[in-house]
Amino acid sequence: MSHSCTHAIVHCMDFRLNPSIQDFLETHDLVNTTDIIGVAGAVKDINDTEQGFVETQIDLSVKLHSISTLMLMNHTDCGAYGGSDKFETKEEEKEFHIGELRKAKEKLSKKYPELEIIMLLGDTVSREQTNIEVIE
Ligand SMILES: [Zn+2]
Repeated sequence: MSHSCTHAIVHCMDFRLNPSIQDFLETHDLVNTTDIIGVAGAVKDINDTEQGFVETQIDLSVKLHSISTLMLMNHTDCGAYGGSDKFETKEEEKEFHIGELRKAKEKLSKKYPELEIIMLLGDTVSREQTNIEVIE
């Protein structure tokens, strides 16, 4: 048994994200070379636990499929974080999620120095639409 792929993506299990994530993967020609790790709150589990479910999935993706790039994606109006109502403004909410992404990236960069880690923020604006941007 030997098979590999290049990428893995950690994103929230929220069904509203599905069309946009599919579109993102298609646009970047990644559909057939990406492990999908969908869990409520995405990087929340990485930040809130020492070695949780998500990190175990990433470990397996690295070991079994030899990925070189990991994409971490949080999104606005995420129920696992209390939704948009928890924030005063959209900007405050985005900054919070960018902070969560940076924290997770920092932790994982120490563990996997060879991995390229890309941060994505999805702005969930409707049931059908989440605008995904790459965070620098
Ligand atoms: Zn969510």
